[in-house]
Amino acid sequence: MNGEPDNKKQQVNESLYSKHLKVYPQRIAGTFRRLKWMVLGALLGFYYIVPWIRWDRGPTVPNQAVLLDMAARRGYFFDIEIWAQEVYYLTGILILGAVGLFLATALAGRVWCGFTCPQTVWTDLFLWAERLIEGDRNKRIKLDSGPLTVSKAGKKVTKHFLWIVISLLTGGAWIFYFVDAPTAAINLLNGTASTTLYGFVALFAGFTYLLAGWAREQVCIYMCPWPRFQGSMFDEDSLLVTYEEWRGEPRGKAKQKDINNNLGDCVDCDLCVNVCPTGTDIRLGQQFTCIGCALCIDACNSIMEKLGRPANLIAYDSISNQLSRAEGKPAKKRFFRPRILAYLVTLAAVMGVMVISLATRDRIEINIQRDRAPLFVTLSNGDIRNGYTFKILNMEPHDNSYVLRTDELKGALINVIGIENKGASEVVLKVGPDSIGTFRVFVRMPLEDLENKSNEIEFVLVNLKTGMEIEQETVFYGPEK
Ligand code: SF4
Ligand code: SF4
Repeated sequence: MNGEPDNKKQQVNESLYSKHLKVYPQRIAGTFRRLKWMVLGALLGFYYIVPWIRWDRGPTVPNQAVLLDMAARRGYFFDIEIWAQEVYYLTGILILGAVGLFLATALAGRVWCGFTCPQTVWTDLFLWAERLIEGDRNKRIKLDSGPLTVSKAGKKVTKHFLWIVISLLTGGAWIFYFVDAPTAAINLLNGTASTTLYGFVALFAGFTYLLAGWAREQVCIYMCPWPRFQGSMFDEDSLLVTYEEWRGEPRGKAKQKDINNNLGDCVDCDLCVNVCPTGTDIRLGQQFTCIGCALCIDACNSIMEKLGRPANLIAYDSISNQLSRAEGKPAKKRFFRPRILAYLVTLAAVMGVMVISLATRDRIEINIQRDRAPLFVTLSNGDIRNGYTFKILNMEPHDNSYVLRTDELKGALINVIGIENKGASEVVLKVGPDSIGTFRVFVRMPLEDLENKSNEIEFVLVNLKTGMEIEQETVFYGPEK
């Protein structure tokens, strides 16, 4: 084909060191294309709107409904506030995401990759911009293989400019999930935002431009680990984009069918390959390069319709259905299979644990660190003193007062730096709303009351308002007995 990019060649020449052949996906209309546009619109709309939703949590806490506040090390999701210390909830969310993805894959193949993955959504958007400026597949191939002219340079510059604008408006908007969106937007526009903020917008926009504009299908084929192991999640009842080989082969041009009645329904027009964003020929069977976008279904259906042949030569179908149809039997539909039930049970269990844990979690935590050097100090009156750094995490939107006392060690007296007392069995600590109170706590004991070199000591913190108690054990050291 005179060096012209050819998607079919890409299939045949595929080797680790083969030159990358640019894919020029052709525009196609149809049910799945419409569905993809709708999903793209909904996802981008959701992505844009979410950081602007306000949520009143009181005067001391940010009022952005969804916010990952890295500086304060907290995540806000409407009424749920997760502190860095509660990172196990993030683990729960990741498990839910992973199992949800396994479930979707077992049910409908690479539906995530083909419709909702950000790489797919952004690549679709960039391809739309490319078509707008450079035209559809044949025009783009001609433009790229032709000499550099003023018109070609103009089109290329305009396309990259449009890509950069889209990258800034879409990828760059990611920043609004990490800072107060309205303030950041005003600061970015009037030039008063911090260098860090501009830097992150440039970083996110740069990656969007690179991955969706330049790398495109190579991210799915070479970079993403998901295609490598998702094959193990399919079974013969998973819905996949499949070619009805028993019906399509042997393929041959439409006119030849009048002469040779043994030909199948595939007219070898290559439209299914030409519209494919990864350059895959689905007629060769299931391949990890197929992202399940279903555009080849639209392409083939448009040809079948023109020829008056039955639709769905390429279809979203299961292997077991295909086999039944090939044998002229009714299609088998099996939704509830053991793996689907296993994924559903796992999802329900993890979700249940998370909901119960969120509903019953304490909004106060303590963290005690014992001084390691010196282990203890002998005071002038002979008493032994140990030092502790005491942190109280008050996760409530109002201030709280707590009584701190010790159990286990009878006769222990507490001193807290910054709080006037000469040593008492208990002391009152105050912590502001939604903040961490850090206190230097000293405990002293008469030497004769210490039984061992290492003694158990339990700190008890009592919320004065609710009476709720939290205990934490640590050690009180003294000299060798
Ligand atoms: S083969 Fe079909 S479903 Fe697979 S990526 Fe290409 S167009 Fe999409
Ligand atoms: S679009 Fe349909 S008819 Fe054309 S080559 Fe592909 S499978 Fe065959």
